[in-house]
Amino acid sequence: MPATCPDHPDGLPRPQPADREPAGLRVALLGSTGSIGRSTIEVIEAATGRLEPYLLAAHSSVRPLLEQAHRLRPRWLVVTDPEAAAGIGAGALPAGTDLAVGPERLDELVAADEVDRVVSAIVGAAGLRSTWAAIEAGKTIALANKETLVMAGPLVIRRASETGARIIPVDSEHSAIYQALACGRSAEVHRLVLTASGGPFRTRSRESLAQVTPAEALQHPTWSMGPKITIDSATMMNKALELIEARWLFGLPAGKLAVVVHPQSIVHSLVEFVDGAVIAQLSPPDMRLPIHYALHYPDRIAGPARRLDYSESLRLDFEPPDPERFPALRLGHEAAARGGTAGAVLNAANEEAVRGFLEGSLRFTDIADVCERVLAEHPFQDYPSLEDVRRLDAWARQEVAKWVCV
Ligand code: NAD
Ligand code: MG
Repeated sequence: MPATCPDHPDGLPRPQPADREPAGLRVALLGSTGSIGRSTIEVIEAATGRLEPYLLAAHSSVRPLLEQAHRLRPRWLVVTDPEAAAGIGAGALPAGTDLAVGPERLDELVAADEVDRVVSAIVGAAGLRSTWAAIEAGKTIALANKETLVMAGPLVIRRASETGARIIPVDSEHSAIYQALACGRSAEVHRLVLTASGGPFRTRSRESLAQVTPAEALQHPTWSMGPKITIDSATMMNKALELIEARWLFGLPAGKLAVVVHPQSIVHSLVEFVDGAVIAQLSPPDMRLPIHYALHYPDRIAGPARRLDYSESLRLDFEPPDPERFPALRLGHEAAARGGTAGAVLNAANEEAVRGFLEGSLRFTDIADVCERVLAEHPFQDYPSLEDVRRLDAWARQEVAKWVCV
């Protein structure tokens, strides 16, 4: 085990030839109506039979879910919100598709023998439980739900090594690192450098950030994503969460993780090896590529993602991040270094603060301030259980509620 990876059972997870799986991998898609979910459906449709939709799940967006069901004809449709499911009339489902309702049913179905790959794309802390069910069942998971690792990284990595579950990252930065790591050995890695677009306010002053409106913050310059992660990109909390995600996924100490701002979002992250060589993965900002990579791994086959066009001039800029204007970054480094319950608390505080901002009861700059206070005041635990993580998640939400005037 390399000295650089004290908490990771096998050193850095590096691409391995997978055991051959049957052609027509059966996919369980959790969060199918969201931004990642819709991109995944395009990847499945482009795979011409190599991927089969077995299960599509969403929370309450029943109409788009039913449309997807009629297009893809999965074996199961899961609606986790029972109230929303109550509105689904008899005859609304296509022939051959059954309806299951509630998060418990989703946990059961994700673990079914028929499932070859799980796409974990539910947004926020709500994604942890079904991803955990997939880990318990030893599944191969295309992980978009970064919160799973942010909240419970050490528990997830340990349990996955016990059950044989494999986690292939979908977050574009982590997918890039996963691919670049194939160029060297674990002990040869000097550091991982995550790229950040810098979001819509990359050049704004700290003073002007206090006046930012939700509509402005929801305009991302390079990526089209769900609303929560779009706000996180604007505060750079997304990069903070990704530092924590990388810390557990790649088993490196926080001191070996860095962030560089790269406004074009073409270099998706970099691995710097001990000899100074830097290996990067480049492609246009299009989430279909990391989803496609994770679903077909270890094969590389043609897919639907956009390609770089060299007939046009291409500029790649890099600049250091500014933690004074984007204090969330400091919190990410701190939580990645502390480990334990820090990630779960930061994540929960941020989810509630983002909700408060979108509802108009917190200013944009309050988001990081509130998170910093809650993180500093929380009863830190070094080796939490899943139950501890859940308890502190709830505690952090209550703390933020005290700040959010309704
Ligand atoms: P989104 O808001 O567009 O979609 C969320 C999906 O989760 C929907 O299908 C919704 O029905 C489902 N959902 C919401 N609450 C739920 C609950 N309580 N139980 C069950 N299902 C629930 O989100 P998104 O942008 O697609 O992001 C999904 C995940 O992927 C997040 O963890 C995000 O951080 C991560 N991610 C997204 C992108 C991106 O480009 N959008 C990139 C990297 C990582
Ligand atoms: Mg990302």
